[in-house]
Amino acid sequence: MSEKKILLTEKEIPEKWYNIMADMPNKPLPPLSPATNEPIGPEALAPLFPMGLIQQEVSAEKWIEIPDQVRDIYKIWRPSPLIRAYEFEKALDTPAKIYYKYEGVSPAGSHKPNTAIAQAYYNKQEGVKKIITETGAGQWGSALSLACNMFDMECEVFMVKLSYNHKPYRKTMMNTWGATVHPSPSELTQAGRTILAKDPDSPGSLGIAISEAIERAVQDETTKYSLGSVLNHVLLHQTVIGQEALLQMEKAGDMPDIIIAPFGGGSNFAGLAFPFLRLNFEEGKKIRAIASEPSSCPKLTRGVFRYDFGDTIGMTPLLPMYTLGHNFVPAPIHAGGLRYHGAGVIVSQLLKDQLIEASSHHQLECFEAGVLFAKTEGIIPAPEANNGLATVVQEANKCKEEGISKTILFNLSGHGHFDMSAYEEYFSGNLEEHELTTAEIESSLAELNTPTI
Ligand SMILES: *Cc1c(COP(=O)(O)O)cnc(C)c1O
Repeated sequence: MSEKKILLTEKEIPEKWYNIMADMPNKPLPPLSPATNEPIGPEALAPLFPMGLIQQEVSAEKWIEIPDQVRDIYKIWRPSPLIRAYEFEKALDTPAKIYYKYEGVSPAGSHKPNTAIAQAYYNKQEGVKKIITETGAGQWGSALSLACNMFDMECEVFMVKLSYNHKPYRKTMMNTWGATVHPSPSELTQAGRTILAKDPDSPGSLGIAISEAIERAVQDETTKYSLGSVLNHVLLHQTVIGQEALLQMEKAGDMPDIIIAPFGGGSNFAGLAFPFLRLNFEEGKKIRAIASEPSSCPKLTRGVFRYDFGDTIGMTPLLPMYTLGHNFVPAPIHAGGLRYHGAGVIVSQLLKDQLIEASSHHQLECFEAGVLFAKTEGIIPAPEANNGLATVVQEANKCKEEGISKTILFNLSGHGHFDMSAYEEYFSGNLEEHELTTAEIESSLAELNTPTI
């Protein structure tokens, strides 16, 4: 049997992040001011983010140096392993070769510290004392809590109420790293109070939590806001995943035909896929990249491409993206990290230009794939990652039907050790399948009065 696990040395941690903006045939349209609908420049973001990150947000430089201090912290868990899923392949009885990049080895258990560490670094450089953010399933909140702790800064997290109640240990994890956590919607902000007045039992959503975090962050000069996905600089930081994976695939003497990753706002998908899409741009390779989303929050497969707000209240700049409408509150499914109404601007443009693909799956199909993976490969995936696994199964089955062997590379974006209640519900048959109707999507989109494209 050939090699199972392909490892790299610390020296092989990338020295630069890859900025796909430099290679995109069509650059994304500019963000617009929520007040005037006119294009905004980078300075409009200054109340929210440090200049170091704003420069990356608008940069067209192809390669951006990773600061030594950030690379040094990456060494705690990077390079992450690339593993060939022999047993999963066997169970699927597929001729496809399946590899996975495992990002669950980070201290917070997902890919998110790749950007959290970088963001904390640039904030610290500019004298920021406290970072405020939101979290869905708790993975981003824990990643940023870890990062702030490492750079000796305060961290405050608005956690979607549904997850706050479902995942008490994620909250305790954040507390362990010194962060303060509030369930959202909360009474602490105008945004939260507005939502609670309309719906006292609101389970919350990422869009609402973002509104709350921003409202509080702009009140103080030494406090900044931080986002764990969607934005260009976040996607950029995650490209360490794909650069390592490219080296590892070369060491394995193989190259992916298909890349698959779960999709919330686009960061782990971009992180794995973009360094391979570079080969499509530079060398004319035809590597397919498929973003995998839940069918209860299908912005890529059933949303529209137009300007929309990143949050629910409408405080963020208007971004050109695939969206279900900023008022869309997804059903309370367990892949909490995928319950977001919109998508990153770069991934949206790539999808519009048909340079990437998207696929959606029901929750039960995802857990079925995740449990099969746990039983064959041993690692229990995060519910978000199960979504990607459902797409892997779909493509592996296609290979079987067509009798062709393809090489599939999958991003196992995190482990599911804090998601046992979701697995428990799946085993007891209580996991609900939510069928999202076209009428529901249309009614959310009908409320949009943002500019069309
Ligand atoms: C947050 C998260 C996701 C989804 O977010 P992206 O920004 O789209 O990557 C997927 N998997 C895990 C484990 C996560 O924590």
